[in-house]
Amino acid sequence: MRKVAILGSTGSIGTQALEIVRANGDIQVTALTAARNIEKLEAQIREFKPRLAAVWEKEAAEILRGRIADLGIPVYAGMEGMLAAAGETDAQIVVTAVVGMIGILPTLRAIQNGKDIALANKETLVTAGHLIMPLAEEKQVRILPVDSEHSAIFQALNGENRKEIANLWITASGGPFLGRTREELKTVRLEDALKHPNWVMGKKITIDSSTLVNKGLEVMEARWLFGVPMDRIRVVIQPKSIIHSMVEFLDGAVMAQLGTPDMKLPIQYALYYPERRPLSGRLDFWQLSEIAFAKPDTDTFKGLRLAYEAGRQEGTLPTVFNAANEWAVARFLEGKIGYLDIADRIEHMMMRHDNRKHPSLEEILETEKRTCECLDVWLAKKS
Ligand code: MG
Repeated sequence: MRKVAILGSTGSIGTQALEIVRANGDIQVTALTAARNIEKLEAQIREFKPRLAAVWEKEAAEILRGRIADLGIPVYAGMEGMLAAAGETDAQIVVTAVVGMIGILPTLRAIQNGKDIALANKETLVTAGHLIMPLAEEKQVRILPVDSEHSAIFQALNGENRKEIANLWITASGGPFLGRTREELKTVRLEDALKHPNWVMGKKITIDSSTLVNKGLEVMEARWLFGVPMDRIRVVIQPKSIIHSMVEFLDGAVMAQLGTPDMKLPIQYALYYPERRPLSGRLDFWQLSEIAFAKPDTDTFKGLRLAYEAGRQEGTLPTVFNAANEWAVARFLEGKIGYLDIADRIEHMMMRHDNRKHPSLEEILETEKRTCECLDVWLAKKS
């Protein structure tokens, strides 16, 4: 029986991963973790009976401990709990579905303990890819992409020689503001940004999709996952999200993976790789009739341009890009800053950053902390 630990089990990816576990009936869940949603986590624990559970917020962990005392399942708290869930059960695969750089340490712990990673936490590779990928190779663990674009590329590369890749083409829906000008984006409200045309996702990634920052993070993630340099990773707008991404080879052949916009496919593919299991979604090509493409507008959506800049420079700059974005999206969700402030803050923090090459884990975490502190000071002065 396959054994799986799920970090971030109450979020969008975690919930869908558990739906796949439920539908197939042959995966044992060894650990479940949540940030704070203990109602949902309790229901999951009662259904899937993991060996251990963890909650990021300490008070919430304490409450859950009392609520599931009848089960005899230990509940850990904070980073200690995340690390236990990632490394201390007999799971073969760890699904990393937490949001943000908080995923770095647990991912490293899981790899160190020889567990394959079903990677749904892109910030980890973006900021620490130079530490994660060599460690994965040393420990001979697989990094199985869960992001739909990277899963598409991974599938298109089946049986191919990676040395024969000419370009990777990452598709983007363009989000809810495709075709808008910068002027029109000044008045964007939170509810507009939270309406993604095709995909149902968590709040943070939905905002990231609307700014194209998500696409920028995906380009940086692909650079590490597939070992292709930034300048040979292209982004193409494909509004209906039918083609999930493509690989162009040296001879001009292009391999693409198509499907309905349903995250269950990439999640299930990672959990059962290389086996395929049945799923219900089907494309109807007779109804579809056409697939349109466009070049992204990186003047209006400058987050994508800044991501390329960060990815080319490497070092601590991708951490600044990511930390400034995480900070800005959280403040936008709280109504404290405007929509265009998100990309402006990323740009500002990148410009004033003194880049350090080949940073250690400590330097990465320190850079993240400093970036957020600087932005806190800016916000305090502004208001
Ligand atoms: Mg994606």
